[in-house]
Amino acid sequence: MTKKLHHFIDGKQVNGTSGRFGDVFNPATGDVTAQVPLATADEVRAAIQSAARALPAWAATPPAKRAQVMFAFRELLYKHTDELAEMISSEHGKTLPDATGELMRGIEVVEFACGIPHLLKGEYSEGVASNVDSHTLRQPVGVCAGITPFNFPIMVPMWMFPVAIACGNTFVLKPSEKDPSVALRAVELAREAGLPAGVLNLVNGDKEAVDTLLTDPEVSAVSFVGSTAIGEYIYKTGCAHGKRVQALCGAKNHLVVMPDADMDQTTDALIGSGYGSAGERCMAISVAVAVGNETGDELIKRLAPRVQALKVAPYTDSASEMGPVVSRESKDKILGYIEKGLEKGAELVVDGRGLTLQGYENGYFLGGCLFDKVTPDMEIYTDEIFGPVLSVVRAKDYEEALGLVNDHEYGNGAAIFTRDGDAARDFTSRAKIGMIGVNVPIPVPVAYHSFGGWKRSLFGDHHIHGMEGVRFYTRLKTMTTRWPSGIRTGAEFHFKSGSEH
Ligand code: NAD
Repeated sequence: MTKKLHHFIDGKQVNGTSGRFGDVFNPATGDVTAQVPLATADEVRAAIQSAARALPAWAATPPAKRAQVMFAFRELLYKHTDELAEMISSEHGKTLPDATGELMRGIEVVEFACGIPHLLKGEYSEGVASNVDSHTLRQPVGVCAGITPFNFPIMVPMWMFPVAIACGNTFVLKPSEKDPSVALRAVELAREAGLPAGVLNLVNGDKEAVDTLLTDPEVSAVSFVGSTAIGEYIYKTGCAHGKRVQALCGAKNHLVVMPDADMDQTTDALIGSGYGSAGERCMAISVAVAVGNETGDELIKRLAPRVQALKVAPYTDSASEMGPVVSRESKDKILGYIEKGLEKGAELVVDGRGLTLQGYENGYFLGGCLFDKVTPDMEIYTDEIFGPVLSVVRAKDYEEALGLVNDHEYGNGAAIFTRDGDAARDFTSRAKIGMIGVNVPIPVPVAYHSFGGWKRSLFGDHHIHGMEGVRFYTRLKTMTTRWPSGIRTGAEFHFKSGSEH
C-alpha cells in the first residue's frame, strides 16, 4: 500500500480528513511513492488557530531562549542530513550532492537565526530634545504563513520559518504537494529540538489550503516562493486581506559573455548553472548572451560537446550530473517549448529529447538541450522553461547585451563574465536585476545577506532571509520618553523640531 503522509498541527502528526490526496512520484521511475493529503479550509484553520494560541508565550520568550532551540535544531538537521537529502532526491529527482547542498544552504539560515538576540537589538538616542530620549525595537508580526515551491523543497521553507520563529512569530508552512516529505520531517525535527507545540505547523494542500492562509484574519504575514502567475495572485489576494506579503517568483537569468571572458571558466559556469538540477532553479542560467559573433561561435563550439556528454542518471547513480525533471507535465511543457523554438527558427545544436535510460523508461528524463541563434521574440526567450534548455543569444555589443537583460520582464539574477573591470562595474550598476554575479554564474546570496529579484520576479518590498527577513517578520516600534523630573514645558500647541527644544 502506498504510504500516506500527514499534516503537522499543534505539535503532532495529524491525518488528513478531506479524502482528497495528491500523488507524490519518484521522478526517476515514474512510480507513485506516497500520497499527500490535501487539506480542507477547516484543517488549515486548525493550524492557524494553533499558531495563534502559541503566539503570546512564544513572542514573550527571551530571544536567547528562542536561539537555543535554533542551535538544537541545527544539530538535528546535521544528524539527519543523509535521511533528509535522500527524501529530497527521491521526490524531486536532483542528485544527492545537490540535495545535500540545498540542505546546507537552509542550515545556514538556521545559523543566521541563532544570532537573533543580536539581530533584534534596537536603537537608542539619548536627548533627542531636552530631557527626552528615543528608542526603537522590533516586535513579531504575529502568525506568519509560508507557501513554497517544489524545486527547493527544504531550502526555501528554511529561508522563511527559522527567521520568522526566531523573531518571535508562529508559523504555518504549506510546502509543495509534489515533494512534501522533507519539509514535514524538518518540522518534526524542529519540535524535537524543543519548539513548543503550535509554534511551527505544516499543512499539506493545494489552492484551497493556500486561499485559507491568504484570507484568514489571524494570519498577519505571508511569504511565497513560486511561479510569477501564482505569486502575483498571492500578493494581490494577501494584500487585499490586509496582510504583509512577499512573493518571490519566476526568472529568466542571463549570463553575458564578453569577448575577453575566460572561456574555460565561462563554459564550466554555463554547464553547471544551465543544467544543474535539470535547470529547475530560479537562479539557473537559461540565456547566454554572447557579445560578438566570434564569442558566440566559440561558445557553441565549447558548449555543444559538453552538453552532449552530460551524465543524465537517477540520483542512485553516484556519477549522475543531472537527474530527471520533476513530473510528466513538466517534461511535456519543456518539450512543447523546444517545438516552439524550432518553429520560430532557433537552431537546436544539441537535442536531448530522445534520451531514454534502460530500466528507467517511465522516468521523466530529458537530455541537455542547447539552442543557438535565439532572438527576443521567441517564447523560448521570453518564458521561463524551467528545464535543461540553454539558449544562446548573440548581441553585437555590450550595450545590446545589457539592453536584453534590462528589457526582460524578469529580474531575478544575471551574471557577466569578463576580465574588464569597467564593463563589470557598469553592469553591476546599470542592470535592473536583484542579484548580480561577476564571473559567478549563480549569485545566490549567503544566509546573512538577502535573496530577491526585481521586476516581475518579486512582488512586495522585502527580499528574503538576512536582515531583510528580520525586517519582514517584525514591526518597528519607536518610543519617545520624558520623565517628570525633566524641565516643565507647559502646554505646547505647535509642532516642534528637535533643535527647538
Ligand atoms: P508554483 O507556483 O506552481 O507553486 C508554488 C506554490 O504555490 C506551491 O506550494 C503550490 O501548491 C501553490 N499553488 C500552485 N497553484 C496555486 C493556485 N492556483 N493557487 C494557490 N496556490 C497555488 O511553483 P512551482 O512549480 O512549485 O515552482 C517553480 C517556480 O518557482 C518557478 O517559477 C521558479 O522560478 C520559482 N521559484 C522562485 C524562486 C525565487 O526565489 N524567486 C525560488 C524558487 C523557485
